[in-house]
Amino acid sequence: MSVLDTDIEELKGVGKRRAEPLRKAGVKIFRDLLRYYPRRYLDRSTVTPIRQLTAGEAVTVVGWVKAKGMVPGRGGKRRLELRVQDESGGTLKCVWFRGATYLQRLFDTGGRFAFHGKPEQYGRTFSLAHPDFDRLDEEGAALDTGRIIPLYPGGAALDKVNLNSRTFRRLIYDLIKEHGLAIPEVLPEWVRDEYDLIPGNVALRAIHFPKDRGELGRAMRRLKFEELFFLQLLLALTRERRADVAGPDFGPPGDYARQFVNEVLPFTLTGAQQRAVEDIAADTMSGRQMNRLVQGDVGSGKTVVAVAAMMQALDSGFQSAFMAPTEILTEQHYANLKAYLEPLGIEVRLLIGGQRKALREEILDDLKEGRAAVAVGTHALIEDTVEFQNLGLAVIDEQHRFGVMQRARMFRKGQRPHMLLMTATPIPRSLAMTVYGDLDVTVIDERPAGRKPIQTKLYTEKRREEAYAFIKDQLREGRQAYVVYPLVEESEKLDLKDAETGFENLQERFRPYRVDLVHGRMFAYEKEEAMDRFKAGETDILVATTVIEVGVDVSNATVMVIEHAERFGLSQLHQLRGRVGRGADQSYCLLMADYKRSAEAEERLEAMLATDDGFVISETDLRLRGAGDFFGTRQSGLPAFKLADVVRDAELLSLAREAAFALAERDPDLRQAEHTDTRRHFARTAPKSLGFARVG
Ligand code: ADP
Ligand code: MG
Repeated sequence: MSVLDTDIEELKGVGKRRAEPLRKAGVKIFRDLLRYYPRRYLDRSTVTPIRQLTAGEAVTVVGWVKAKGMVPGRGGKRRLELRVQDESGGTLKCVWFRGATYLQRLFDTGGRFAFHGKPEQYGRTFSLAHPDFDRLDEEGAALDTGRIIPLYPGGAALDKVNLNSRTFRRLIYDLIKEHGLAIPEVLPEWVRDEYDLIPGNVALRAIHFPKDRGELGRAMRRLKFEELFFLQLLLALTRERRADVAGPDFGPPGDYARQFVNEVLPFTLTGAQQRAVEDIAADTMSGRQMNRLVQGDVGSGKTVVAVAAMMQALDSGFQSAFMAPTEILTEQHYANLKAYLEPLGIEVRLLIGGQRKALREEILDDLKEGRAAVAVGTHALIEDTVEFQNLGLAVIDEQHRFGVMQRARMFRKGQRPHMLLMTATPIPRSLAMTVYGDLDVTVIDERPAGRKPIQTKLYTEKRREEAYAFIKDQLREGRQAYVVYPLVEESEKLDLKDAETGFENLQERFRPYRVDLVHGRMFAYEKEEAMDRFKAGETDILVATTVIEVGVDVSNATVMVIEHAERFGLSQLHQLRGRVGRGADQSYCLLMADYKRSAEAEERLEAMLATDDGFVISETDLRLRGAGDFFGTRQSGLPAFKLADVVRDAELLSLAREAAFALAERDPDLRQAEHTDTRRHFARTAPKSLGFARVG
């Protein structure tokens, strides 16, 4: 037990009242406070004089509040406006539309503040809307002497107990002065030498109180490396440990596998599919448990790879399970699997929510007694009541749509089946390393022959008629179309209405063509029926919300219309587009976008027009959204970094990975004396749910 493990309440200057909001902010013990990093630094070099402002780029401005006022606006709501002047003599407006009443108390005329935000220009005045701000009292003077001032994350709860940048600085300063010597070095010395990293205690002091920009840079590098290193160490050790886990003992692909590939499939596998099948066969025959991710763009044909693997399982006497994220997709897989496998005399069962009790029990029985070899389902598959006689292989389709725990539960079914994960979200290499660093990866980088690239076009409201004429032409040729409306969770009702109104309009406009509607609020059987009608060609246009986003496969559909395209994320647009172009016919994606759209929306639409290569799309998406968003913590199951950014710090990430894997190899249990503090830090910080939970 180190003094750094002391409850934060015990720290001088904290006490009961301040401890509570601190705990909420993640600061529970002394140690946490050291890692409560500044969100920004203020010094002469980062402050922009108001007279030099330009619109668009985020800036920091330091100045005095000259006037403040509550200004009435629409709907009786009042906004807070400040007039701020700085040394350059320029003035600037700061405006808050939300929380105005609360905020106005925080500013006093004559007070000196730092504001941070993106300036907008109206006439000759610049203004900042909802800027980030800090009060500068004596720091104002410090700033004038050229010091670097750390600004800390705050919030109303912290504010209330007078915890602001100034108090944080004092608390942290005192903590380091008093207990700085207790800070352990968590990186092994050989790693620090090899990668030229400054000592941990120096870095922790300097991240809060840097002597100059150079020292701050070195502290950043060291602490980012540390974050990346410990994540990579987790992946390395997980992998190391898994190497010892025995997996179900598969033999080579036999009769079922051969019949499926050679007789059932109406096409031959692409080279990339072939390679994936071989990778899987090698894994499952190795005696060790497989954890393989198959990554391939939409339409690259991942499903048949999975089915081939399931046939190999069956050849070896094992059952297999196939889990998909939505009911529609699951139903579709079920229909395909039945069509493929029933001719071979293989029993397939479907498990989804809302099935009749008697039916469900019968199905559960068939799986438990081994009467059915293959189960397809939504997360209904991972409920505790589902048991298998001898599950050998679990396939998780669109695995990025599942949470970590869901994937882990699949893995715990039966005797730890081989895991085959599939994703259509191609990700840049740097990210693949972080997110899938503990998995083996096969990339399907080839599409089935004869596919024509999808033509993508952008329309605004003014040209809607043109778009409709185009759709009619396609329908006349016997093709079908999707029309997709966005569904944002916060405004679900409104959006649903959008889709419903759209549906009614289209019915009117496209008579006598048949139009149908499918959305998430419908019962499973209703969705299923709508999909069936569309698949059978009984409907010509299917209006849908994003429930059809993943996996759906109707090869006669050649037009994908995306309404309010400016509101969709880039990867989502690409996924939706992937619903067409699945047959030999030329397919089209029509993006209907509002004329008024943000610069970022513009970039997304441009990317869609420029390419239909999933890797290029995802690189762009990643750049636009930033890594944090791109892989939400929930999705990847990985801890969020405080400092590092896997995109911007890609180079440092490779170094950290190299170091971590070297350590895992040298000392897999971290039992050597020189690794004691590394082990302790690892044990303290590694998410407990990870390890085996993160198969996927
Ligand atoms: P995804 O990788 O997006 O899951 P699917 O597995 O749904 O793709 O396959 C898309 C379509 O391509 C399906 O209709 C499938 O039958 C077809 N397909 C798969 N492999 C081939 C192939 N080798 N040749 C021709 N068509 C194929
Ligand atoms: Mg698929």
